[in-house]
Amino acid sequence: MTGVTHNACPICGGAFDIVAVSSHMRRIARCRDCRHAFVQNPPSREALFAWFQGESYFADNYNRQGIFSLEDDAQWEGWLAGRFDELEWYIPEAGLASGPPRRVFEVGCLEGRLVDALARRGHAVAACDINETMTRRGRRAFGRDIRTGTVGRCAPPLGAFDVVLVYFVLQYEPCPQTAFASWMRLLAPGGRIFCIFPVGESSRVDPVGLHFFSRASLTRLARTHLYDYRLTVVAEDRPGRKEHKAVLVGSNPA
Ligand SMILES: [Zn+2]
Repeated sequence: MTGVTHNACPICGGAFDIVAVSSHMRRIARCRDCRHAFVQNPPSREALFAWFQGESYFADNYNRQGIFSLEDDAQWEGWLAGRFDELEWYIPEAGLASGPPRRVFEVGCLEGRLVDALARRGHAVAACDINETMTRRGRRAFGRDIRTGTVGRCAPPLGAFDVVLVYFVLQYEPCPQTAFASWMRLLAPGGRIFCIFPVGESSRVDPVGLHFFSRASLTRLARTHLYDYRLTVVAEDRPGRKEHKAVLVGSNPA
């Protein structure tokens, strides 16, 4: 089965130019209007799904962060502390570190370590990931509501969450506006979404990234879906590299 082919910018609908062809014969396009760059002929959903299965994709990801065991909780403590610091900094109004109980959904949770930590702080949690191996493992290890599939496929309750968390997912979605809209439908009135995207060099090194966001394309995305929002682009020093990311926090109308 072949994937979609974009005939217009998938963020703003504008005209684009083909600026490069990747080694995998993917055409890289850039929007003339919002400067969003994207793979014009992404792989099929089936091919993308296959890419994200198994443990090796996940292991590459956490090995880069200096973690080498899924079982050793001590190795993950620093990682979790960093996640909570970040949530306190960017979305303090949610009070996820020490505030009252919230209903939280995470899209792209892998094995669900963050939602498990949130549940241990008193929040009601659910999550999903397309990686079958990791979600099965997470359900067994943590006993939480960790579903397999995209939001569209795994059918969590709509309008039922105060906070939706999404770390580094949208760049893999063939149709990012449709995916983002499906995440927004999870939010209760007045609920808030927290999303992180790779930008700049950090997005270009990913062999399966389909979108290379600009500040203008992220602003366009935010204005399409969010009642109010804050968009922050940051560079962080990591061992041996610099990581560039954008943090978007926004709300559903109350
Ligand atoms: Zn555009």
